[in-house]
Amino acid sequence: MPTWTLSCSSCDYTQPGDARAGVCPKCGQPLLARYAPVAPWTTSQRWDLWRYESVLPLMEGETLVSLGEGLTPLVEAPGLARRIGVRRLWIKDEAQNPTGSFKARGMSVAVTRARALGATGVVIPTAGNAGAAIAAYGAAAGLPVRVYAPRTTPAPILSIIRSLGADLHLVDGHIGDAGKLSRAFAAESDFFELSTLREPYRVEGMKTMGYELAEQLGGRLPDALVYPTGGGEGTVGIWKAFGEMRDWGWLPNDVRFPQMIVAQATGCAPIVRAFEAHEDRATPWENPATHAAGIRVPGPLGDRLLLRLIGESGGSAAAVDEDAIREHTKTLAESTGVDAAPEGGAALAVTRLLVDQGRLSRDAEVVVFNTGSGASYRVDT
Ligand SMILES: *Cc1c(COP(=O)(O)O)cnc(C)c1O
Repeated sequence: MPTWTLSCSSCDYTQPGDARAGVCPKCGQPLLARYAPVAPWTTSQRWDLWRYESVLPLMEGETLVSLGEGLTPLVEAPGLARRIGVRRLWIKDEAQNPTGSFKARGMSVAVTRARALGATGVVIPTAGNAGAAIAAYGAAAGLPVRVYAPRTTPAPILSIIRSLGADLHLVDGHIGDAGKLSRAFAAESDFFELSTLREPYRVEGMKTMGYELAEQLGGRLPDALVYPTGGGEGTVGIWKAFGEMRDWGWLPNDVRFPQMIVAQATGCAPIVRAFEAHEDRATPWENPATHAAGIRVPGPLGDRLLLRLIGESGGSAAAVDEDAIREHTKTLAESTGVDAAPEGGAALAVTRLLVDQGRLSRDAEVVVFNTGSGASYRVDT
């Protein structure tokens, strides 16, 4: 079993990993789990993300909560590579997860820890998919679930949340407005709040995407990785995995980390704006609007972590408009057979934009994340 401590991502605060944790009590920034070094490539026989249990926060005697999340396909798309103009291109297809998005990964780990630490229920604000995932994992864990979601959340996602028995509260506004209500409820109840980067364990589930990539590519990493970024948990998690693997000798010594590319929508692009202005923090985006609901996050708590990792990786950030997102969602689906979500379309559109602008090499091997399922957004069929 691994042992870990929780360290602030911004100041020198640390605490043991076996106690309830939110954000850093000193500075309010995200806490991240730090493990004792782990012997090379230890994977278990499990066929879900707990395959990487040697580097996940699970203690002796605890029961994990799993619905078979993770271990998603890495689909090579040569036709798409030609069309976009890069050497090789793969889609990491997160639509294959329970409830149709990578949010399942984070919830498997966070709900496991919440239950182990004695939560009587779990609550979150969501732009959609995190609500569906927490509803599923709460049901699996036997814990009551409360979800605050914008009224504008795609109807199929709201329907999944309701059908899994969660207590759904619709909010006028965006995920930031939902967050205020969620935090207020958590403060007056015993429910654990599992909001993006406001507790340290969802990101541990997300990081397994990085471990999987390395394993699926035989210990190599791509030249660039394009992620549709909202709260930043996926992007931060993958970058954390690369660092852990390097520190523990899980990767070849001469491994080169990918350029981390943050994809956003022009209707809500706080990280892109901060990146272009060379800032180390983002200011909240006013009136966020995009049909790619998962990346409609105007004021992410992970802004500093994101801007730091873009810099460290020599990466980039770019935004695309609604028409480009629609066009590339269609292209992604039709040219690969993957159930493309608008967020995946945004990532593909950003990939093309950066190639066209000469910011991404035509010689690059690129992994584009399809973070969710198109079916969760379709109401016209
Ligand atoms: C949540 C979500 C995102 C954004 O992920 P973050 O980890 O919040 O950056 C992207 N795509 C989909 C489908 C999502 O549900």
